[in-house]
Amino acid sequence: MNAVSRPDTTVSGLDEDKLVLLQELVRGLSPAQLYAVAAHSAALAEQRPAVGRSLAAVAPASKPPATVLYGSQTGNAKRLAERLMRQLESEGLPARLVRADAYRSRDLAQERLLFVVISTQGDGEPPDDARGLFDFLTGKRAPALSQLSFAVLGLGDSSYPEFCAIGRAIDARLAELGASRLFAAGEADLDIDEVAAPWLDEALVRAREQLSVASHAPASIHALPVATVSTYTRETPFAAAVLANQRIVARDSEREVRHLEISLAGSGLRYQPGDALGIWPEHSPADVAAWLEVLGLDAEAPANRAGRELPLSRWLSTELELTRLSRPFVAALALADSDLAEALAPGNQAALSSLLREYRPLDLLHRYRPRWSAQQLVDALRVQTPRLYSIASSPLAVGEEEAHLTVTVVDFIAHGLSHRGAASGFLADGGEGLAPRVFVESNERFRLPEDPSRDIVMIGPGTGVAPFRAFVQERRERGASGRQWLFFGNRHSRSDFLYQTEWQEALRDGSLHRLDLAFSRDQREKIYVQHRLRECGAELYDWLSAGAYLYVCGDAEAMAKDVHATLIDIAQVHGGRSPEGAREWLDDLLKQGRYARDVY
Ligand code: NAP
Repeated sequence: MNAVSRPDTTVSGLDEDKLVLLQELVRGLSPAQLYAVAAHSAALAEQRPAVGRSLAAVAPASKPPATVLYGSQTGNAKRLAERLMRQLESEGLPARLVRADAYRSRDLAQERLLFVVISTQGDGEPPDDARGLFDFLTGKRAPALSQLSFAVLGLGDSSYPEFCAIGRAIDARLAELGASRLFAAGEADLDIDEVAAPWLDEALVRAREQLSVASHAPASIHALPVATVSTYTRETPFAAAVLANQRIVARDSEREVRHLEISLAGSGLRYQPGDALGIWPEHSPADVAAWLEVLGLDAEAPANRAGRELPLSRWLSTELELTRLSRPFVAALALADSDLAEALAPGNQAALSSLLREYRPLDLLHRYRPRWSAQQLVDALRVQTPRLYSIASSPLAVGEEEAHLTVTVVDFIAHGLSHRGAASGFLADGGEGLAPRVFVESNERFRLPEDPSRDIVMIGPGTGVAPFRAFVQERRERGASGRQWLFFGNRHSRSDFLYQTEWQEALRDGSLHRLDLAFSRDQREKIYVQHRLRECGAELYDWLSAGAYLYVCGDAEAMAKDVHATLIDIAQVHGGRSPEGAREWLDDLLKQGRYARDVY
């Protein structure tokens, strides 16, 4: 057996012996180390001085690489960590990128330079992939870290009271363990880049200093390609055509749910079951008019933000977040109102939480009628953020240039005003010419098992069923031998049984083995998916004990927590575990990636 593949002499121009030597030399090096070797060679070729030093500076023996560690629920923290990693690599700085659940906690004591990018779940919890690490860090086993320099970027949503709580806790804990904080923790709100971009710049500057590599990396290193699948990204989305857009609940259903088929043709965008499609919302002219009217402002009035000047109507239609209330918006309004100022006072968390939950920005504008200029309005709002929808199709079943979505249209009346969802309303009302700007958000934590003989259990009430349509399609196309069990729930069986005929067909053709249903409003007492889980507890526990994978998708606030608690009960009743043992068992499944959640 020959471990070194035969080198291609025609490409390199090196003779075979040298190439074999070179391949031996670089075998096993990380990408960052390979870039460092390339930088060294380029400097040698250009006969620049200090060449020996620059390689020494990046050699792993003399300077351990920086670690970029991320914990991500919806992909934003991951995206930023990857961005930092690309920047470090492009400068030839030695670094590695690690997802929190792949991080070996014993490595912590050896780290010298650590950048943490981590989100906070709505209610102040870590993302699923970072639970284990967070517990370790905040627990008694965490080592003293006087050797370590670090910086933390927290991500969150300021419409929740526990905004960035996890980033803050990690930042404080690392310092408590003796590590040196390089610069203040970033706390990024939904308009992530406003905080993240300067934080990433600062991290790069500090990494250069700490790793003592000349900042003038050769141009050839900057030009090293970064693997990309498509030129379309979150920042440069693809204007997609809509192939189908239909209501999939009965006419008299209490809510509108739509099935969309979106063409990705020509975009190069690719996805896997479990991934989400990001949609940039656009507010309708009627929505924009409602905002202009309440403030008595002119659509054409110019306003600036981040170095761009646009007419106010453009800021409101595509650039700014109009449907979610944020703390900074309340703070801007509070300048002229003492009631609101009180809600913001320290210790008044409950009042602020209920304000943020119950009102939308337009409700407050109607109530307080501030005398704002176009510029003041633009300053008070957050930038628009895309909405993520779990993709409801498998590329193997529908073709790789097509993605399906299942969308509940948010539509309600509150405080005398009618409110429609920013993205769901846009998708529902867009009509013939609808061309949503889209991108693919990968979700590595929500994947089918690699082993097709493993059983899977899927819990997806409401539109949470979307990714499970993709899973069932995918496993059918691949001829997977493992069994599939779906728990679905919705309000009424007659009107809200999403994809009913498809599930029945899947049961017939053997691609779905079991379907348990919970229609909450078909009877007086509510029946939810967790009631069905409990009824099937013994069998469910058997499946999981035999290695089945468990997936939950849908509402994070109530459903996912209740399902989690029910699973703990099931492990006690049917697995004979203590309450603590049952919790550990479930945490362990989470850490192993055998219990995955796509909830928000
Ligand atoms: P939903 O409002 O979650 O309702 C679906 C069913 O769940 C209803 O029968 C509801 O009953 C029931 N339910 C209410 N509280 C529950 C609880 N504590 N435990 C278990 N079931 C409960 O349905 P939806 O409007 O379709 O929303 C789905 C959720 O999934 C949203 O939060 C959405 O953000 C999230 N999500 C969607 C996607 C996607 O791609 N579509 C992906 C990830 C997450 P009652 O209303 O009768 O009480």
